[in-house]
Amino acid sequence: MLLSSSFRTDIPHSYEPPAYIDGILRNVPKHGRLRLANLPTPIHRVNNNNKNIGGGSSSSILSRLAELNINLYIKRDDATSGTELGGNKLRKLEFLLADALSSPDYDSIVTIGGEQSNHCRATASACRLVGLEPHIILRTARADAIHAGKDDIGITGNVLYDRMVGSTIYTVSPREYAQLGSTKLIDSVCNTIRQKNKHPYSIPVGGSNGIGTWGYIDAVDELIRQIETSNISTLDHVVFATGSGGTATGITVGLSLAYGCHGGVGHPAMQDKVPPRIHAVGVCDHPDYFYRTMSNIADEMGIHLSSVGSNDNCSSIETEQFIREAVTVYNGKGNGYAFSTDNELDFITTFAIETGIVLDPVYTGKALYYFLTTVLEEDPEVYRDTNILFWHTGGSIGLYDKGDDLLERMSQSSHVIRIDSSMV
Ligand SMILES: *Cc1c(COP(=O)(O)O)cnc(C)c1O
Repeated sequence: MLLSSSFRTDIPHSYEPPAYIDGILRNVPKHGRLRLANLPTPIHRVNNNNKNIGGGSSSSILSRLAELNINLYIKRDDATSGTELGGNKLRKLEFLLADALSSPDYDSIVTIGGEQSNHCRATASACRLVGLEPHIILRTARADAIHAGKDDIGITGNVLYDRMVGSTIYTVSPREYAQLGSTKLIDSVCNTIRQKNKHPYSIPVGGSNGIGTWGYIDAVDELIRQIETSNISTLDHVVFATGSGGTATGITVGLSLAYGCHGGVGHPAMQDKVPPRIHAVGVCDHPDYFYRTMSNIADEMGIHLSSVGSNDNCSSIETEQFIREAVTVYNGKGNGYAFSTDNELDFITTFAIETGIVLDPVYTGKALYYFLTTVLEEDPEVYRDTNILFWHTGGSIGLYDKGDDLLERMSQSSHVIRIDSSMV
């Protein structure tokens, strides 16, 4: 009885936030969290001197890191779980679905994203895991053609997983999405299914609200423990992609507080250390949008800053000013959200060959490409002899959507050889 109940996915566990959050982030999730993810996720160090250097179709990424004596660490949140659940969204869903399950009334979830949304895919699978019905709204340029029966939503990448778990899929065109906004669209689907006697719980784009973002407060605490017990002496830079802002908010607020800024006590192992510089690469929208969004999410989490911290390396202030000082957001969207440039795809291919780590085209590939080729190259000396941690947030299923473009690149590096009798 006891044993079997401990394996239940639909019963929340209590959540105790780290002591350095106390009194600063005040809206601690009341209903705890589920335990769905494989935590802690590993950190892998990229070996700058390995034999794979130069194996790619463009210039070597690892040689450049070696020249600057940079240690690149990758936090593998692509490995939070199996394919259907994997990525950063699962950390947020642990808190969001615990909240949904706290009321026996809710029987379904409504959320929204792009056609290849990792968030919708992970949400749909997690819903089934805990016994809720998934309703997902996908933004697609093919909405009209699909509605007219001239096209089909198909089974490419994330959509295959959405459909495998029996999601109800609603389509919306990019124009309608821009006009109506995601909140209105979610509300309208909720109203529609309420008329069918459903009781929907809504989750915003990317799960980025004052509840889901706790997943990344917890993730930072996990990272701090890993650093504390590792031989990484200082963490100089933390780099990641930002889309809906929740991951960026959790990492920025969590790290600042772990290092004892703004009235907090800090984590005992970190309070005397210089906090890492935080770099968020936007894959859509403009940096100002992200600073505002992050500030709104932090306010939803009940952030309460005071002007002095135990760590003199941090400064003071209001939420948006705090965010602007704590993190630098870049415009790394390139050709636009979910559109790849040739250079980005070359980079992903080379990185995979040189490291064995597969990035995704929409978030992580764009973000690391932008950071290493633009941010770092603007002033390489700043990064010489540093430890950089790139937070891999998942998304590799999105590669299926770029199959043809990737195939061209792979044909130069991956060879297919027929075994014939002369070889044996
Ligand atoms: C959603 C997503 C992000 C961005 O996270 P946000 O919290 O939405 O900003 C980054 N990487 C991947 C793979 C994602 O799916």
